[in-house]
Amino acid sequence: MNHPSPLFHKPAAWAPDSWQQRVALQQPVYEDAAELARATKQLAELPPLVTSWEVRALKQALAEAQEGQRFLLQGGDCAESFVDCTSPIISNRLKVLLQMSLVLVHGLKKPVLRVGRFAGQYAKPRSTDTETRDGVTLPSFRGDVVNGPAFTAEARRADPQRLIQAHAHSALTMNFVRALIDGGFADLHHPEYWDLAWVEHAPLAAEYRRMVAGIGDSLRFMETLAGPIAGFTRVDFFTSHEALLLHYEQAMTRQVPRHEGWFNLSTHFPWIGMRTAALDGAHTEYFRGISNPIAVKVGPTAKPDDVLRLIDVLNPEDEPGRLTLIHRMGNAQIAAALPSLLEAVKRAGRRVLWVADPMHGNTESTSNGYKTRRFDNIRGELEQAFDIHAAVGTRLGGVHLELTGEDVTECMGGARDLSETDLKRAYKSMVDPRLNYEQSLELAMLIVRKSGG
Ligand code: PEP
Ligand code: MN
Repeated sequence: MNHPSPLFHKPAAWAPDSWQQRVALQQPVYEDAAELARATKQLAELPPLVTSWEVRALKQALAEAQEGQRFLLQGGDCAESFVDCTSPIISNRLKVLLQMSLVLVHGLKKPVLRVGRFAGQYAKPRSTDTETRDGVTLPSFRGDVVNGPAFTAEARRADPQRLIQAHAHSALTMNFVRALIDGGFADLHHPEYWDLAWVEHAPLAAEYRRMVAGIGDSLRFMETLAGPIAGFTRVDFFTSHEALLLHYEQAMTRQVPRHEGWFNLSTHFPWIGMRTAALDGAHTEYFRGISNPIAVKVGPTAKPDDVLRLIDVLNPEDEPGRLTLIHRMGNAQIAAALPSLLEAVKRAGRRVLWVADPMHGNTESTSNGYKTRRFDNIRGELEQAFDIHAAVGTRLGGVHLELTGEDVTECMGGARDLSETDLKRAYKSMVDPRLNYEQSLELAMLIVRKSGG
């Protein structure tokens, strides 16, 4: 068993701002420090978006997922945007996630833990700090919490007021999601609430409807015998985002009367992106001190020792539910890159929830200039992930997907076999290409097949 590195284990001093002593990658440059300080002070006084009670309930549920009693479905946009904070976009995304989770519950015969990539997914890591067009160079777009996507100096300025706007848009999203769910939108008796207007003729929609009809029959049969079953009328939904912009996360890090420790109350389940997961970096420093369940993205260049040291720093006590590792290797790399990591963590006897992100290692650009992903590569990575875990004797406990309820053409392939020329028809993503409805359902059905449901 590995021993915690003395440098990082049981750190004497941690504070919500101790990350500021480390190198923080992927942060914007704010021109006016006083303006930033005013905005973060205001943000720190605004109410939280989630509660510590919910955060702890999620940690417990993730602990159960680590034991194989639940399956995690985590999904949503690559980047949310303020203009997309609308009723149809929020409810359509929820509909797809609910339909997928119904497929999974039915097929896997175990509860599904639903976590949205939403209500706060407003900060994006970028491969370059600046962007040049026609000889003009401006700061890169880093997500709506930082600056605007338009290619003008004004839009690209890092604006501290956006911290407040991001909080407000997250709150509006949360409020609507909570109201829909509490109001019965997720009721299993009414899966017709989740129908998407434009999927009438989708081949998979027919298969899905047959399944739903079957579930409805069993439900009515059981209730005839046993009376109304409360658990079927509502579901839990948790939120997650990449906690990238540390000024924002710090301002949302709070203490509460009833629970010890510090909680990031901007979301239930923050994660560290692949580009900011350095052991001695600011993000790792920030994350080690918060009490939320946390996740880290792990890419193809990660070495077993790096992963073990990260586990020591982020979960020194091997607390159940605390740490999720999301591997995102790429269809071509996963067979070479994943087994040694799984074996090392297994040998060390450390407790993690392994989750597959089959999206981020499979991004490519087409000759006509679109950032896309081939469905075959996404499916291929996911299939291999199940097989590799089975071979090593570890458990793939969930998936992390970029998807939308809008009728987009961003990823190629899938049931309708979208081609390169189809991409221009409805390419709406500001950052990474997302699965559309059919591609999402197809993956849910594949997960059921691969995990022997
Ligand atoms: C993302 O999840 O949008 C992302 C940037 O992922 P990664 O950190 O895995 O590259
Ligand atoms: Mn992305």
